[in-house]
Amino acid sequence: MEGSAQESLGTQSSWLRCYRCWSQNLEVQLHYEGILKVDADTGEAVDPVEEVQEAVVQCLDCLHDQPHLSLTFYDEDGRRISRIEPVEDRWERMVTGTPWVASCTVTVDADQVESCSGPDAAESLAFAAFGDHGTREFFTHVRFHKHEDDTTITVHLLVELYARSPEEATEVLEAAARGRLAITSLAEESRPPAATGDDPH
Ligand SMILES: [Zn+2]
Repeated sequence: MEGSAQESLGTQSSWLRCYRCWSQNLEVQLHYEGILKVDADTGEAVDPVEEVQEAVVQCLDCLHDQPHLSLTFYDEDGRRISRIEPVEDRWERMVTGTPWVASCTVTVDADQVESCSGPDAAESLAFAAFGDHGTREFFTHVRFHKHEDDTTITVHLLVELYARSPEEATEVLEAAARGRLAITSLAEESRPPAATGDDPH
């Protein structure tokens, strides 16, 4: 069964692609913040005292972030090499799954919501409801939120996530929810068209 889909699953090319349009045209946006110590004699700024970096892998065809891929640094022969690697518990579900849209509510402690008005409200509410999944993996649209009392907020959301079955979509939502989850509806959408990679423009 040479070259069968089953066989190619697990090879590098099966995960090293956009999970939405399967394009292999990817780039990494690396945001680096560092503090370098300055040598008083030579003026050289070396040896980071502190460094923070955040890497976001993006598809150049559909322009979406790729939360199933991460960037890892290695030291090889004194050279610093960076390489894209799959996020193990996520890539297969996202690359081979289909989009599911859930209409749902998550009831969380009011303390979990950093801000519920102003420009940061949507992101704060999405993070309060689903953590990093809400802001980085899922497409999360906060419809509205309701203060149940002084200590509880119910966030009403539309969420799109990739999964291989309705059961898996439900499991992922349940695992990500940071409060009491209620799913009102869950519907499968069709996959966006695959990038062919030979677009003439
Ligand atoms: Zn894409």
